[in-house]
Amino acid sequence: AKSAGGNRFELADPEADARAITRHGLTTALPAALERGEFFIEYQPLVHLGDGSVRGAEALVRWLHPQHGILGPDRFIPLAEDTGLIVPLGRWVLEQSVRQARDWRERYGDGGPLRINVNLSPCQLTHPGLVQDTVDILERAGVAPQALCLEVTESALIGADDDLLKPLRRLAEMGVDIALDDFGTGYSNLANLRRLPVSVLKLDRSFTQSMQQFPADPVDLKIVEGIVSLAHSLDLAVTVEGVETGAQAEQLRILGCDTAQGWYYARPGPPERLHQLALVDSTG
Ligand code: C2E
Ligand code: CA
Ligand code: CA
Ligand code: CA
Repeated sequence: AKSAGGNRFELADPEADARAITRHGLTTALPAALERGEFFIEYQPLVHLGDGSVRGAEALVRWLHPQHGILGPDRFIPLAEDTGLIVPLGRWVLEQSVRQARDWRERYGDGGPLRINVNLSPCQLTHPGLVQDTVDILERAGVAPQALCLEVTESALIGADDDLLKPLRRLAEMGVDIALDDFGTGYSNLANLRRLPVSVLKLDRSFTQSMQQFPADPVDLKIVEGIVSLAHSLDLAVTVEGVETGAQAEQLRILGCDTAQGWYYARPGPPERLHQLALVDSTG
């Protein structure tokens, strides 16, 4: 049992109360956690579906909480967004990840993961420092903008006006890739894609899940086929996430997807694991 909360345990729904305490407790603990260095990043490889080589990695943040152990981003990113801490936290994630990309390059040259994908919350998009912070971080690390891909969810950009798109456009002009994350869940107008400064579509995991059987549901196949051909005709690369089986990988490769990510290849892990994977791939 948690030690928090004294007489709060008398309430009718102790479980709901424990959740509330945790939520409140987590929220107030966030700023100090950043200062104390309780966050860390795991990396998950992005694999080329054609030849199986590791092309890059997505940075996924975790919190090593002194009482609760390792917390996933779904537990604390929403709280960080509510409190505004997401801006310094997101900047920290970006800086760490870009430095990691530099370390990989120094160790492995072209044989290692070349690119780093970093998630951007909608709050960071509207923060005026985004472009300058990104430029500074890349310059400090000596990493080319071309090595960075910022992932923005489709829902964050639905109905986005020009003010919201301006910083993304500037980053894209510099050479930073912008990926539309969780694509296919946001009901966005496909024609609208032309307006967005994106160069990668990340197909949502739900599509990958529907490829579980081989052959997959014919309607799902048609949908993915349509998305891939539209994406390619607009010069966008297609990444699929949540690939858990070889059958899914094969089906998605046949459908023309470019890059894949998922437990089938590797779970998110420490940066050293990426070194090993990249080495295996470049030699075999
Ligand atoms: P996302 O960007 O869609 O990231 C993919 C999620 O799918 C990750 O969950 C990853 O661990 C998980 N995943 C990867 N492969 C598989 C698979 O084969 N099967 C299944 N079932 N899941 C797989 P995670 O790490 O818990 O992250 C959840 C979400 O938290 C991310 O979803 C992203 O939206 C957010 N997030 C993570 N790190 C950051 C960050 O630094 N900043 C911001 N703003 N958001 C972040
Ligand atoms: Ca993502
Ligand atoms: Ca995603
Ligand atoms: Ca997701």
